[in-house]
Amino acid sequence: MAKILIVGGGYTGFYTAFKLQKHLRAGEAEVTLVDPLPYMTYHPFLPEVAAGLIEARHVIVPLRRHLKKTHVVQGRVASVDHAKKTATIEPSAGKSYTAKYDHIVVAAGSVSRTFPIPGVADEAIGMKSIEEAIAVRDRIIDNFAKAANLPKGKERDRLLTVTVIGGGFAGIETFAELRSLATAMLRQYPELTIDDTKFHMVEAMSRVMPEVSLKTSLWVLKNLATRGAVVHLDTQLKSAKGGLVELSNGMKFESDLIVWTAGVMANPVVNSMGLPVEERGRIRSSATLQVTNVDGTVVAGAWAAGDNSAVPDLTGNGVGGMCVPNAQHAVRQAKRLAQNLVAVLRGENPVDYIHKNLGAVAGLGVGHGVFQSGKIAVTGFPAWLMHRGYHGLAMPMWERKFRVAGGWIMQFLVGRDTTTLSLREHPQSYFQTYASRPGK
Ligand SMILES: Cc1cc2nc3c(=O)[nH]c(=O)nc-3n(C[C@H](O)[C@H](O)[C@H](O)COP(=O)(O)OP(=O)(O)OC[C@H]3O[C@@H](n4cnc5c(N)ncnc54)[C@H](O)[C@@H]3O)c2cc1C
Repeated sequence: MAKILIVGGGYTGFYTAFKLQKHLRAGEAEVTLVDPLPYMTYHPFLPEVAAGLIEARHVIVPLRRHLKKTHVVQGRVASVDHAKKTATIEPSAGKSYTAKYDHIVVAAGSVSRTFPIPGVADEAIGMKSIEEAIAVRDRIIDNFAKAANLPKGKERDRLLTVTVIGGGFAGIETFAELRSLATAMLRQYPELTIDDTKFHMVEAMSRVMPEVSLKTSLWVLKNLATRGAVVHLDTQLKSAKGGLVELSNGMKFESDLIVWTAGVMANPVVNSMGLPVEERGRIRSSATLQVTNVDGTVVAGAWAAGDNSAVPDLTGNGVGGMCVPNAQHAVRQAKRLAQNLVAVLRGENPVDYIHKNLGAVAGLGVGHGVFQSGKIAVTGFPAWLMHRGYHGLAMPMWERKFRVAGGWIMQFLVGRDTTTLSLREHPQSYFQTYASRPGK
């Protein structure tokens, strides 16, 4: 039986395994998937989780529940020796071990890309994991509660100031959703007004959301401005030391919540695999999703797709000729990869991956959204409905779709959930503080 090893259980890894389960005949191959996390994360919903609109666990898909015919290992692939077709696996418990494979699928995704800006590593938080989204939600809600107890002044201003760095898709969605959460929470805090809350987005380029047309991006800026959210274009973050944000336009302010969404890069683990990596740190892939050498020859038994790979965009619309790193491609590449891998196992020819971009749809807080496909643009409430419709259906697995849609119905009926469980980070504190002790 051929041994297939999948590195990563995100969009690409999860869907590759899911489709291999479907296409492989009994006894044809044995599939192992390794990921440090026991779930795949549906990233497009992270901003809505941060805004208290979707229950956090509903946007993650438990691997073991849905990959019943796959051997799921919770751990990380530390390195790969493709010449020997072995991988070193560090499980979440127990000793590291070496696993042999016949085919490897590299699907380790991307990581947040930061720059050496003072204070960012200590003060900022990303928006790439469910844990970060929960932490951002809890921080903003807790800060409102703290600020309501304080007189006007520096400390209160800091608690009510939110900064998002990076005006790409994820950054704008996060910024707009947090603004929407803050505005909604003001109803519960008569001590605070909208003018007390400050929302700053910092974008180094002269526009936001490169995925939509300039006209649509200008609509987004206008929409945010009317909601009390400031976007600083052509501006860079100079320092965030101690939470004091210093911008290249000379502005300085204190901010208790700094979210970093200024881009991603291929997971650096791909450099330790002995596989060809291009100048931007991505594994070289062909349109068949097979890893290729610089001269275009196929590296036998190696496959790569998703954010960690440079896959040619055969529609001719890619950036630098390559597919852009997004979920639209990751999911479809995974499905094609699974079919191609099975074809190669059976001595058949793999087929090229080709997908014409469907466009982009973004949620910008309840009732606000944008959609762009070619020259067609929709803004405002209809686009927000399209965002919910598209992503509600794109959420993997029916049981997950039902949870998300059920939550939206509840939210419509009983309102947004603005509770936090931030004490969860110190789970023993309640017991240690209040439990009765013998002899006291
Ligand atoms: C906030 C946000 C919003 C987004 N919104 C959209 C959107 O609206 N539309 C869209 O098309 N795209 C969107 N994206 C992009 C999309 O989520 C990514 O392009 C997609 O996740 C890429 O899939 P992937 O499988 O390559 O990586 P991932 O889904 O990130 O999966 C990588 C997996 O590899 C695992 N891993 C990492 N290192 C190792 C290792 N050493 N060993 C084993 N496993 C490892 C990780 O734990 C992870 O599970 C968004 C992204 C973010 C962050």
